[in-house]
Amino acid sequence: MEWLTQLLMPGGKFLGVEWNTWKIVGWIGNVIFFSRFFVQWYATEKRRQVVVPVAFWWLSLAGSLLLLAYALFYKKDSVFIFAYAFTWIPYIRNLIIHRRHDRLHMDCAKCGFKTAPGSRFCAQCGAPLVTKG
Ligand SMILES: [Zn+2]
Repeated sequence: MEWLTQLLMPGGKFLGVEWNTWKIVGWIGNVIFFSRFFVQWYATEKRRQVVVPVAFWWLSLAGSLLLLAYALFYKKDSVFIFAYAFTWIPYIRNLIIHRRHDRLHMDCAKCGFKTAPGSRFCAQCGAPLVTKG
């Protein structure tokens, strides 16, 4: 098995990186954080307008928390820690707003667009909305 280890990880390194548990945590955080761009891009291309899906905020939150843990407990670098120390606040706030909007939104009878709670007209087509009773 030594030959296999030497083949896959020459010099104890894989892809030129010396691995440990915190490196894996940091890289998983990086992959999750980076993947949110593809989710947002796909949603935007699909709707043909700029869209930020709820998955974007979940991926942002999960990725940034893993990177914060990596920065806090492994790198112990103040610049790296500060970069992720407060990013969770807008992510959680956006998730709360998303949830509230999903619960209280108004569907446009004309085009089906989900309009913000309390709206009198559809934000997509301008049709008047009927209040939920
Ligand atoms: Zn509409």
